[in-house]
Amino acid sequence: MEPFPKVDNVCAIAIDLPGFSDLITANVYAVGSGPLTLIDAAPKFPGAFETLKGQLEQGGRDLNDIERIIFTHGHVDHFGLAARIREEVGRPIPCFVHAEDAWRVTAETYREEMFDKAGERLMALVDMPPEEVAKIRERFSLFAMLCDPIFDVKVMEDGDVFEGDDYRLEVIHTPGHTPGTCCLYETRQKVLYSGDHIIKHITPNPLFELRKEILRDPEYQSLKEYIRSLEKVKGIDARYVFPGHGAFVEDLPELIQSYRGHHRERMERIWGALKKSSRPLYHIIDEVFDFVPEYDGFLAISEIMVHLELLIEEGRAELADPGPPSYYRAIG
Ligand SMILES: [Zn+2]
Repeated sequence: MEPFPKVDNVCAIAIDLPGFSDLITANVYAVGSGPLTLIDAAPKFPGAFETLKGQLEQGGRDLNDIERIIFTHGHVDHFGLAARIREEVGRPIPCFVHAEDAWRVTAETYREEMFDKAGERLMALVDMPPEEVAKIRERFSLFAMLCDPIFDVKVMEDGDVFEGDDYRLEVIHTPGHTPGTCCLYETRQKVLYSGDHIIKHITPNPLFELRKEILRDPEYQSLKEYIRSLEKVKGIDARYVFPGHGAFVEDLPELIQSYRGHHRERMERIWGALKKSSRPLYHIIDEVFDFVPEYDGFLAISEIMVHLELLIEEGRAELADPGPPSYYRAIG
């Protein structure tokens, strides 16, 4: 991976994620020249804490200098190590996440609980075979092991500002990947910290929300919000985009353009599969994706669901039979 460009008062830390090759690295950024703001905190992965501490020290900083930690969103690979960091420095460093994602950070076993109820229901609707559902359940319980919860997380909102020596971070709420995903724009150095909203080597997944009833907008649609959030950051004057995973980005508008093409193409494949025959969604996976890793059945269904929501909104697909399992048909 190309090393991060040198930016004043920024220590960019890339932590390898063996076994998660699609993410390459979990990136953590220490911003500031005195007291530090840490952007994201990496997953509780074997060796990750030692790497974080080591790279911070190599950059001339110290864990004890951290005065706050901001999570770009509430996924384990972004907040997993925060509790360990607090333990190491011996004080409850304030941690922040957007209000819509706070429950993800505070609920210890939410992944399993969530999957038990809403997840099982969704899998029945899409006609996922029981042995596939078992694999997904196993995958979800693995995620829960990669973090310790932060029960006293503080919430932030769009427009909030975090300031320190030589830096000023603006919170830009960019829902889509999760409802509470935020980017942070550092206005002095013109760096956009993009979490999982912008990633160079993969198209970020606007994940299907299993529990819309707990959101501010129960009609929330991940892909629709995601596209809107891309527009929100497209015009930002950023020298560099520093993402949550993998390499930095220089040409943001061009990358966003490629995302739009990717989503359009995926929508057309889903529409084409349903046009051929109206089926429960599990049975179109092989036509929509060229390759799905064995453990990624949930991600495949999530991708189909969020694109289908947009097709329905555009009047190009509809629910033919609510089921379970549900049948959808293409229109036009
Ligand atoms: Zn991530």
